[in-house]
This record gives sequence, C-alpha cells and structure tokens, in this order.
Amino acid sequence: MANTKNIFTFPILKAQSLFSRYYSREMDLKTYRCDEFLVRLIQDNNIRLDLYPFKSDKFCGLLTIDEDEITIVVNKNSPAVRRNFTIAHELGHFYLHRHLNSNFPDRASDLLNSSDIVFEKQANAFASEIVLPNIVVYIMLKSKFSFNRISAVTQTSHETLRWRLIRFLIGNFKMSHNKCVEMVNDFEDSSIFGYKKCEIHDFIAKEVYKKLVN
Ligand SMILES: [Zn+2]
Repeated sequence: MANTKNIFTFPILKAQSLFSRYYSREMDLKTYRCDEFLVRLIQDNNIRLDLYPFKSDKFCGLLTIDEDEITIVVNKNSPAVRRNFTIAHELGHFYLHRHLNSNFPDRASDLLNSSDIVFEKQANAFASEIVLPNIVVYIMLKSKFSFNRISAVTQTSHETLRWRLIRFLIGNFKMSHNKCVEMVNDFEDSSIFGYKKCEIHDFIAKEVYKKLVN
C-alpha cells in the first residue's frame, strides 16, 4: 500500500501544480474542458502534436524527444475523448520521465488502469488528474451534474471518468474501494436510465454541509 502511494504521489502533485498555474479566478470550472488545458501545456513546452492514422488500434500514441524537437503522436482514428487521454498520458511521460528515456511508444493496454508497468501507471495517474482535476470533479458533483454530463463537458471518456471518480472518492473521503465502485456504478446507471436521485450527489451534499457547519 505504501509503495502504491509513493508511485502515485508525485505524478498527481505534479498535475495539480500545473493546474493551479493554469487556473484563474475568472474561469468557470463548471465548463472546464480538458482539451483546452492540454493545448496550453503543449504550447507552453513547444511540443509538436501530430495526428497519424495508425492502422492498428493497438498502438495509440507516443512521445519522442530529440535535440531539435519534442513530438507527441496520437492515433487520428481514435475518438476525440480517447485522444485527449492519450495526449495527457504522453505529457505525463514528458513531465515525469523525460530524464530517463527519450522515446515512449504506447500500446492501448499501457493506457489502461490495469497496466502493471510503473511508468505507465504514473503517466495514467498524471493524465487522469489533468483531464479531470480534483476541484473540477468536486464542483461538478456539488452542482449535481450527471455522469454523462461530466463526461461530455470535460471531453473525457466514460472509462476515464469512472476510474477518476473512484480515485476521487478514495483520495478525498478514504472510502473503501468496493463502496466507491458501487457508488460510481450507481452514478453511471442513474445517468443512463435517467434517475433523478443518486447516492454520490447526496454524499457530496452531506460533505459540503459538514464543511459548512464545522
Ligand atoms: Zn505510456
């Protein structure tokens, strides 16, 4: 458990510090789109972004660094929400691992929560914090956004959002993994089937109330 914490602590803190530099008071976080933040990070680092139609969808992106140029290549055939996560993942390698290597080719399996390669796990944790920053998730849940609405507004996939919400609940409220999965499944179902009430909104409202009275 302690090792897991060590692996993820720096990537998440790094992503959070980049977001606090990007964030301004005028921003309405209820309209946060991750692609706008990604473009800003790409521009700030003079990174070239190429969309390439890979024949196989097993290969989804790469980061290459040479003397002249830093390039991120993503699969043009992937849906936009998947490309966003891939770009965020490659930026994770750029910010976290560029002193260790200069070439990071990524298969689709490297971008899954189940990847068991430390580099990939770290790039994924960084990416999920970039595409769905903690404060954005909190504000949207507090505003009672549905699962589908959060995914659509932020331009993130359902898989990314599901995984991020579980980490959000564990990280902020120290809930058990099983309870988080149950709450997130209920949230996704309520969005699909149009239920008005869902446990996660009630839970966040109670937490907000607790903060107000304490
Ligand atoms: Zn990777």
